[in-house]
Amino acid sequence: MTEDTAQPTPRRKTISSPYIHRLQRRHFLLFDVLPIIGTAAAFAFLLVRPFGVLELALLFLMWLVTGLGVTVGYHRLFTHRTFKAAPWVAELLAVLGSMAGQGGVLSWVALHRRHHEYSDREGDPHSPNLSGGGLAGAIRGLAHAHFLWMRRHEYPNIVHYAPDLIKDRRLVRVARLYYYWVALGLLVPAVLGGVLSMSWTGAVSGLLWGGFVRIFVLEHIVWAINSFLHMFGTRPYESRENSHNGGIFALVTLGESWHNNHHAFPESPSFGLDWYRLDPGYWLIRLFAACGLASELKVPSQARMSAKRIA
Ligand SMILES: [Zn+2]
Ligand SMILES: [Zn+2]
Repeated sequence: MTEDTAQPTPRRKTISSPYIHRLQRRHFLLFDVLPIIGTAAAFAFLLVRPFGVLELALLFLMWLVTGLGVTVGYHRLFTHRTFKAAPWVAELLAVLGSMAGQGGVLSWVALHRRHHEYSDREGDPHSPNLSGGGLAGAIRGLAHAHFLWMRRHEYPNIVHYAPDLIKDRRLVRVARLYYYWVALGLLVPAVLGGVLSMSWTGAVSGLLWGGFVRIFVLEHIVWAINSFLHMFGTRPYESRENSHNGGIFALVTLGESWHNNHHAFPESPSFGLDWYRLDPGYWLIRLFAACGLASELKVPSQARMSAKRIA
């Protein structure tokens, strides 16, 4: 198409502007750098109040519910539409996923759909395999894919990448309140810590361990899938990018570490694919289905799986 035709210009896949890059820098400092400082503060605060059952419980429970919000909500439901969920379940998952501080649901979905579109090729927002050869290239690639890419990156146009989601008015409303959900994710463990221990030190400890440390831990788990599992691990299924499985991390990643399986069958709500591969995210989807809150689970057939199997 030439410039003088009357036809509209094709929709851009990514948007880049000083305003967007300012927002990205702010998000990076607030939600990627600040949790590191908060985690250091949590260890320093051990001098005031030791790590006990309360801290462990708040860290574990907040990690579990926000982690499930990311893998089941953000990833398996909204990005890949691997099942249908009751509207209130979908909204709850979007809120819990937002609390993880990894971006609003629309941006997260758009970035992740672009990752699948360009995996390990030019255009992938976070490939560890495009930073040159040799050991130095691998280290540069891992640092980029794990953390540094978030400072400044091409912003995927949500009109192009998430047209189905922007039609969902309830989800758009949840996405608009993203910063409030992150704040709520910090407030809840602080209040619980204070009330359960009936002390201010308990409230601070709750904020630090159930808030900042929990965000820090979950972020690094999710980022490790973008970085390390696109470089190391096993590859049982044929897929065009460099994704791998890391089976020993299945529980701690809530099933996300079956990343080669996921790239081979992105439409599947199960990332483990077989019952003996631990996949807590899929267990929750099965539980929702058993309660009538989820339907149309698109698990691939045995024949499709065998056709792609290489190891
Ligand atoms: Zn995916
Ligand atoms: Zn991937």
